[in-house]
Amino acid sequence: MPEKVVIIGSGPAAWTAAIYAARANLNPLVFQGDPYNDKNRQNGTMPLGQLALTTEVENFPSWPAGDTRAYLKSALKPDDPDFPLWAASDKPQPTHGINGPELVALMRQQAVNFGTRVESKDIVDTDLKNRPFTLTAHDGQTVRTHTLIVATGARANYMGLPSEDRFKNRGVSACAVCDGALPRFRNKPIVVIGGGDSAVEEAAYLTKFASTVHLVHRRDSLRASKIMADRAMANPKINIKWNRMMEEVLGDDRAGVTGVRLKSTVDASAETLDASGVFLAIGHTPNTTFLKGQVELTDKGYVKWTTAARTYTSVDGVFAAGDVADDYYRQAISAAGTGCMAALDAERWLGHHGYV
Ligand code: NAP
Repeated sequence: MPEKVVIIGSGPAAWTAAIYAARANLNPLVFQGDPYNDKNRQNGTMPLGQLALTTEVENFPSWPAGDTRAYLKSALKPDDPDFPLWAASDKPQPTHGINGPELVALMRQQAVNFGTRVESKDIVDTDLKNRPFTLTAHDGQTVRTHTLIVATGARANYMGLPSEDRFKNRGVSACAVCDGALPRFRNKPIVVIGGGDSAVEEAAYLTKFASTVHLVHRRDSLRASKIMADRAMANPKINIKWNRMMEEVLGDDRAGVTGVRLKSTVDASAETLDASGVFLAIGHTPNTTFLKGQVELTDKGYVKWTTAARTYTSVDGVFAAGDVADDYYRQAISAAGTGCMAALDAERWLGHHGYV
């Protein structure tokens, strides 16, 4: 029997869609991605999504700062592989409130509590031309489904420099939370590239380990929200390098990254900085490869919502939610909101076609 609804993704959009679909008795099946695929680790497309790459989440409603240990212990299962280590031990709570990975693990648990089934596999191929749709996982498993919710999010961008590629995993990273605590970064200068919220957040996080964090931005004002920009500018360990671009990552095979060469964006000047690492925070690319051109995309490559205030896509019965379709708001709460909408849209589609 075909599934009623399959959800691909593992962030706030996917789990909110699953909570709504499960509570509507649609018995949703979620493909949350393959945690053992090294490419997923490198690209930051592991289960639990982008939020799992952040620290404290201060702006998700219902999570004011507070002691979260007891709640996490009672709401999550102790055998959950993503159960926070600090909460299971005597370690102090690492931040003032809820952290990104904990928040998404709670969302997943909530979906599972209502009967959501979860597969830890990547969907690598889709046939959306014939109904029911057919999805193929990386291990060859195929699933047929009447409706599909695409909630695969977006992954971090790199600048595309050959030297950046050369030193990936040896000092070049796009995830401070994943890699920042490595010994190579301790008490040494680090470079962060970008001027948005991600860049200032990564820079602030890295000040815990680095001697100095050079925040390199191509313009003379930050794109980041005012509160986060103000914090970065007030942080004595963050040194903002305005109007500069990274031209090359410097290093050698033995030591990995040893520095960066920067060029000015306003004149012909250039400089080199010593650094043990470079963290890229220059925006994201939506994860749509597996759709193989069967769903219309925007000119920026995001799945196109074809009807105002609906999660409809160019394929009837395929809905999109979260960052894979949203290059504008890109917030956990807005992703969760569109996840809810996608589940309701799928439920109505199934009702209209007599499947429920
Ligand atoms: P973003 O807002 O798109 O910022 C990307 C930054 O990278 C911009 O400053 C951009 O410069 C720079 N950039 C882009 N391409 C570049 C290149 N090739 N070379 C050098 N610099 C380049 O992306 P984001 O910071 O990842 O944030 C994405 C969304 O998530 C935003 O809505 C943000 O508010 C949200 N977010 C929120 C939080 C939070 O609230 N805790 C944390 C992280 C992210 P220009 O400014 O010159 O364009």
